[in-house]
Amino acid sequence: MYLFKRKDDLERHLSTARKEGKRIGFVPTMGALHQGHLSLIAAAKENTDLVVCSIFVNPTQFNDPADFEKYPITIDQDILQLTAAGNDVLFLPSVQEMYPKGLAPEMHYDFGELETVLEGAHRPGHFQGVGQVVHKLLELVQPDKLFMGQKDFQQCLIINRLIKLLHLNVELVICPTLREQDGLAMSSRNLRLNPTERQNALHISRALYYIKNNLTQAPLKEIAGKAINVLKGNGFDVDYLDMVSIAPDGNIDFPAAPGKDPLYAVVAAREISSNVRLIDNMQVN
Ligand code: AMP
Repeated sequence: MYLFKRKDDLERHLSTARKEGKRIGFVPTMGALHQGHLSLIAAAKENTDLVVCSIFVNPTQFNDPADFEKYPITIDQDILQLTAAGNDVLFLPSVQEMYPKGLAPEMHYDFGELETVLEGAHRPGHFQGVGQVVHKLLELVQPDKLFMGQKDFQQCLIINRLIKLLHLNVELVICPTLREQDGLAMSSRNLRLNPTERQNALHISRALYYIKNNLTQAPLKEIAGKAINVLKGNGFDVDYLDMVSIAPDGNIDFPAAPGKDPLYAVVAAREISSNVRLIDNMQVN
């Protein structure tokens, strides 16, 4: 595996590969890699000729400085995992390399109401930061296909819109959420949970399975309300737990009307004892 820390080295390598006719797949991450990330690498390997993974904990997308400071970093293990997975290129830039002019936004992305609901409502500025870094990375890597996880439901919609806004010629491939055997969605932030908190975090995926299994038993609002109460009763601050669907214009239809297909339950909740905020979602019909 090649490892580049500088943009110009990466660009040179990729330009040679492109001249050889290789189709480039790109998997942007913030590291602390788990099987969920590796499933994206596997999908990229299957669908393109050269896979680039980036690891960059992007400061501009953290609205909470403590969350940024505590974000897990396991770079040695990440490199071993990527090598074993057959990843071709790792891009590992510094903050200075990605933001040579400083962290102030260079432009504003018009994501419309998509960035005012759910995550957007609870993490002001988050999606502008995501837009900033993904824009820079896409311009640099110029991939044929971009692989992202359904785990970050709203992020996928934002990136879809970013690609349209910037008229980029890249296909967004959305890959399914990988879960631990007990149902917990894999996440780098799970590393910050002690065994008791890790066990408690299970209530999040259980809430989603509860909704899925009881969908026809009561009105959506009532089922969601019950799931919220279970989370609150088990030591969570619930930012949102909603039933949503995706409107034809790519916005989130929220709250979704019953009968919408596909219908998703989306949740963000802070496990109070660890102060770790987790998100998850599931198609429930
Ligand atoms: P992150 O490192 O958390 O920014 O995630 C990098 C990419 O991996 C994003 O596209 C995520 O949606 C995706 N991802 C994170 N967790 C999972 C998971 N459990 N299953 C599949 N993809 C995931």
